[in-house]
Amino acid sequence: MSKKLSDKRWPWVVASIAVFLMFLSAFVRIDLGAGVDPRPIGNLEKPDDLERLVRMRKQGNLNVLFILVDTLRASRLGSYGYERDTSPTMDRVAAHGVRFARHMAQSSWTKCSMASLWTGLNPARTGVIKFDDVISDDALMPAEILRDAGFQTVAIYRNGWVSPNFGFNQGFEVYTRPAPAGLPASVRRENPTITGHSSDQDSVLTAEEFLRVRGHEPWFLYLHLMDVHEYVYDQDTALFGSDISDVYDNSIRWTDRIIGRFLDYVEAAGFAQNTIIVIAADHGEAFLERGYEGHARNVYPETTEVPLIIQLPFRLEPGLTVETRSRNVDIWPTILDLIGLDSMGQIDGRTLAPDMIASAEGFPLDDDRTGIAFLDMRWGQQTEDRVPSVAVTEGSYRYVRQGAVGNARAIEELFDAAKDPAELIDASAKDVAQLEHMRRVADDYLKLEPAWGVTPTRELGELERNQLRALGYSIP
Ligand SMILES: [Zn+2]
Repeated sequence: MSKKLSDKRWPWVVASIAVFLMFLSAFVRIDLGAGVDPRPIGNLEKPDDLERLVRMRKQGNLNVLFILVDTLRASRLGSYGYERDTSPTMDRVAAHGVRFARHMAQSSWTKCSMASLWTGLNPARTGVIKFDDVISDDALMPAEILRDAGFQTVAIYRNGWVSPNFGFNQGFEVYTRPAPAGLPASVRRENPTITGHSSDQDSVLTAEEFLRVRGHEPWFLYLHLMDVHEYVYDQDTALFGSDISDVYDNSIRWTDRIIGRFLDYVEAAGFAQNTIIVIAADHGEAFLERGYEGHARNVYPETTEVPLIIQLPFRLEPGLTVETRSRNVDIWPTILDLIGLDSMGQIDGRTLAPDMIASAEGFPLDDDRTGIAFLDMRWGQQTEDRVPSVAVTEGSYRYVRQGAVGNARAIEELFDAAKDPAELIDASAKDVAQLEHMRRVADDYLKLEPAWGVTPTRELGELERNQLRALGYSIP
């Protein structure tokens, strides 16, 4: 009797469980190998969700995690349209966060680019152009603002170009390199640098240790990851091939896994519901698309189009993609705006919060940000005059120039991504009016003076020079 009854009932039981699981899956993320996403669902169209961030910060219940992946080119990530599965973790963050689809770094060389990212000023205005330039003490850095607002400020870095010697530690209470802990024998490092004995695993372990000990008070953690720059990967788990471009992809996958393990820790330790997480990059990497390899040589899109992904303490369902142009100088005005802190004064960057809200509402704002990327092609020679490589983006257009105008060897190109998504076809002869307009924008930009007067420099010791040479750069 009872067996017969249960025989009749089991489809109903199964159906009820299925309905319950469907109901549950609307609220939680169930992923193999990862925890359940503990964040509540939020909505950027609702002012209350954004105001909640400000309230949390005022109550001392908000953290900021800033992950900078050195040398990460946007077009090599799945969420940015790459066909290879290089970045499941970052894609997952984007799937329930905010992804900026057309995002530009302000240089293709770490120090110049990071000075702009932190100060919200384009390179001509930071004055940090040459290998021995230092960010002025007069600069107002986000870490100073966050420290004054009650955050513990901690940086873990492995790239000498962002060392305290160059002024990058302003506002940080701790600014440290991780101790090397050793790697499996199967791990390869195809582009070794000064940091040859440590890896991003060490950085992440140091970060976890900090959170374990001090995470109960509000924190701002800057994690500058370096393994993609060094082409570190594990040959036992590598998914792609062995040429230099494949190895680069393998190292993104390796780094993505490290980020994934760290974010699992952040989640398991209970920080996901009260932490803003930002994933950004200082520049990309070229693979002979136009005859150039690596970075820090010019400012074509291979080395300046980078990702920007923001995870909020609430989950977006689905995640948001912002299609209007954005720039690294906009990152800190945006974060400070979201958490209700004053921005950094008269800067080139502008908050992206209105773009996020407008995109969430389905009515994206006009593409009105002019993007600038700049590199002094003689950045390794302090005594030489500048030889600017400059790029300007407006709407679908990108203007790129190498060398001074009037110089017979200068190269000037115009690309229109609306007609040529790869931006490989020079349209400067066809669209002369647009070319002349963007040339003027570039010329006006190049006339700008540093915001803080004369840029300080410092004498680099021989050891330091050797360390920076080992990064693959030629400096005197
Ligand atoms: Zn870099």
